[in-house]
Amino acid sequence: MKMFSFCPACGSSDIHFDGIKELKCASCSFTYFHNIAAAAAAMLEYDGKILFVRRVREPGKGKLDLPGGFIDPNESAEDGLNRELKEELGFTLEKMKYLGSAPNTYLFKGITYNTCDLFFYAKIKTLPEEFDKSEIAALELIDPLKVNKNDLAFKSAHKGIELLLKNQYK
Ligand SMILES: [Zn+2]
Repeated sequence: MKMFSFCPACGSSDIHFDGIKELKCASCSFTYFHNIAAAAAAMLEYDGKILFVRRVREPGKGKLDLPGGFIDPNESAEDGLNRELKEELGFTLEKMKYLGSAPNTYLFKGITYNTCDLFFYAKIKTLPEEFDKSEIAALELIDPLKVNKNDLAFKSAHKGIELLLKNQYK
């Protein structure tokens, strides 16, 4: 993976990535851990179906995703998910049930971020009236048993659907 060409501390090009997470400079011993980023996704059930969003942006442009996003520093997964839901769909959840997690990768501007995606479930009684058009092209209600997996932006969503079917749904 291409990440840094030079050591951010001393400028040396004698830097080595272990292929997993550790980048080390041989000149000054500067070490950077490219640790996983945590992300939270909502599986929102409405009328027996799950609310998906169609992505406007890369990665996964034009494909289906679950509402949610990266958790900020000093934020709980639940608070991060509610912040993202508020931004994307204009509402927050009072209650949510943790379903489980799955690893994922997120390629953004040439850098691959390894993430751990946390899935939360909630039933909603009304559909959002608006959504953030800078991120979402459309909202789609889909029966989780009938989701076309090739239409999903991220592989972790496959696992999220599995967790949903196993734990909660029907
Ligand atoms: Zn260095």
